[in-house]
Amino acid sequence: MSDLRAKDCLCVRYTRVDAFQRYRDIAGDGTDSAKVFAVFSEDGVFMGLVEERQAALFPGRIFADLLIRRQPAPLPPDADLETILQRLGEERVDSLPVIDEDGRFIGAVSMLSVFTTLGMREQALREEREKLITQLQCELENRQVAASVFDATSEGIMVTDTNNHILLVNRAFTRTTGFSEQEAIGKTPELLKSGRHGHEFYQAMRRALEEKGAWEGEIWNRRKSGDIYPEWLHINVIPDESGKVRYYAGVFSDITQHQELRAKLLHLAYYDVLTDLPNRQLFMDRLEQAIAHARRSGSEFSLLFIDLDRFKDINDTLGHRFGDQILVHAAKRLKNVVRESDTVARLGGDEFTVLLPDTSRPEDIAETAEKILAALSAPLALEGKTLFIAASIGVSRYPGDGADGESLLMNADAAMYRAKESGRGVFHFYSAAMNSQLNRRLEISNALHHALAADQLWLAWQPQVSLPDGRIIGAEVLARWEDPGGTPIPPSVFIPIAEETGLIGAIGEWAIRSLCRHGMELTCHACSNFRLAVNFSPLQVKPSMHQAILDILAESSFDPRRLEVELTETALSTGRDGMLKFLMTLGEAGVEVSVDDFGTGCSNLANLKLLPVHKLKIDQSFVCDLATDPNDRQIAAAVISMAHALGLKVIAEGVETAEQAAILTELGCDMAQGYYFSRPVPFDTLKQLLNDNGVLPSDTPTGRAARLA
Ligand code: C2E
Ligand code: CA
Ligand code: CA
Repeated sequence: MSDLRAKDCLCVRYTRVDAFQRYRDIAGDGTDSAKVFAVFSEDGVFMGLVEERQAALFPGRIFADLLIRRQPAPLPPDADLETILQRLGEERVDSLPVIDEDGRFIGAVSMLSVFTTLGMREQALREEREKLITQLQCELENRQVAASVFDATSEGIMVTDTNNHILLVNRAFTRTTGFSEQEAIGKTPELLKSGRHGHEFYQAMRRALEEKGAWEGEIWNRRKSGDIYPEWLHINVIPDESGKVRYYAGVFSDITQHQELRAKLLHLAYYDVLTDLPNRQLFMDRLEQAIAHARRSGSEFSLLFIDLDRFKDINDTLGHRFGDQILVHAAKRLKNVVRESDTVARLGGDEFTVLLPDTSRPEDIAETAEKILAALSAPLALEGKTLFIAASIGVSRYPGDGADGESLLMNADAAMYRAKESGRGVFHFYSAAMNSQLNRRLEISNALHHALAADQLWLAWQPQVSLPDGRIIGAEVLARWEDPGGTPIPPSVFIPIAEETGLIGAIGEWAIRSLCRHGMELTCHACSNFRLAVNFSPLQVKPSMHQAILDILAESSFDPRRLEVELTETALSTGRDGMLKFLMTLGEAGVEVSVDDFGTGCSNLANLKLLPVHKLKIDQSFVCDLATDPNDRQIAAAVISMAHALGLKVIAEGVETAEQAAILTELGCDMAQGYYFSRPVPFDTLKQLLNDNGVLPSDTPTGRAARLA
């Protein structure tokens, strides 16, 4: 095995190209994908190798340009297998050029070509063995079983008679099994039995000898030392002149090393030596599996292409050994940051990939990409130096960005290049739509930050009236924001973004502070138990939040008993940590809690009763069809009577018509709010409405304006 040289295992699938040719102009003719291009200058001098993958990425560039990547040193034609495998592993290249003494290019070797050659070798060895047996047969026939034939060969030979007694063994037999000639002769081959094979194995062997006169296969035997080892055994029947069995001749070779090498090669073929991550080949397999799975289940997944920034500089200035350590650490960090079910692989060099199964929301993918970027960029202490590495990530998604593995990978790679262009240390989606969606969110979040700091948010006030008299007894405040161009951005857009970016805490505090400040102005009006309601996101509920609210109330001297916090049914029922404590503390101070959007979640009234809540808000969706859908009417009726039975007040939101208001009144609903009474209005308009006569819908100009606002 070890006598194989580089020149014996040259890769047959390489294409000779000129430095000024372009992939674009020559691609499309071949069907092989594992191709490599040997690039030659105009005067026929070999310049370097370019992998097809690399060339295909930049089909419009000339091959000379693609050689910018560091070229591995060439191999001499007589480099041995060990060296070849070691270099392919260590230098993380797919192939190495082979150059002879005169500097002539004679081919390239790759893992694949080594494999192929080994396979062919095995075949040749087998044929040789068969020849040997025929030869032996002749010798035996001529009664000239000369020691020379036996001992010249490296294969072990054992001849037995029809009673299965060993007649002859050669020197290689002794070398392999440890048994001397004297020890072996006269015994049966049981001497070597390992115990690893069952009865059926030997039976099948005997049957083959009877029927075909030969048997060949892998067999585990035991040496004199007790070691068990695998051998490749070829047994032939040697008949006499009449055709009856006269001898059995077994020729075998110890394949221990062979097997170890095969296992090593197999691991080398699928795993990266340096990081032990799956390599490109295994990754492509997994990618195909992911595609098959997604196709079957109709799910989506995404592929992240990660490239370390300026890794080449590190490698060049601090050395390869240093670079290797960085890659090992990067691989570890990557593995730590993703889930068990995600595949992390190293394609080569400083290129890694991650497969995220079952991901469809761009936000989720973005979150993982951010996590990876953060993990990779944490300072790295190596040999007394502190290094800062960064990476760029490109994302492609199945099925949107490609139907097969190769195009998904290429598109992720293209996206990664764009990420590098746009400033490194960032990620980029391949699909433009997804990028713009994400960018828009990013823009909004930045602008919101700015708006909050510059006090550009304001509150709209929607009156809440008592039924049936229409007296304004409170208001819900709703956040309002216009972008720099003056276009209103609805809270349904910016609140979720604020929740994602953590800005919601600041917005919540701002809303309460602003509510309190304005609320103090309302004391002069005839509304002593006027309540002001503010919306609260569950993400605002932090351990110290209740204290912050109480502080704001105390600072402004706004009476806590006039504040109401609206939390959606879903927010309350998910039982976020600290929610109960939060509600209790506020409740003790006199703050009331109302359940927003009631009826859209899946909690039940009995559960809600366990929480300190005071009021239910029947969701708009039930109010909307109240007049036309008897179902909704029944639900509203049930909610109202059950709430009353539990001592809770009920308010209907989204009341748009007189008819809806009349039905709700009839059903015994306590309060209502909605466009029928007034839209959310600026604070001054609210004051005006209260001044006019405090009853809605009112026929004063302010009242009419408030309905149309
Ligand atoms: P919400 O709490 O369910 O607020 C009621 C929404 O219904 C408001 O939309 C309001 O303008 C609208 N509305 C009121 N009456 C009617 C009506 O008769 N018909 C119809 N079709 N709609 C009506 P808005 O102002 O766009 O707010 C949307 C959501 O944004 C709110 O839903 C609330 O969840 C959230 N939000 C608004 N301001 C804040 C805030 O300061 N903090 C938090 N955490 N969330 C807020
Ligand atoms: Ca609300
Ligand atoms: Ca609501």
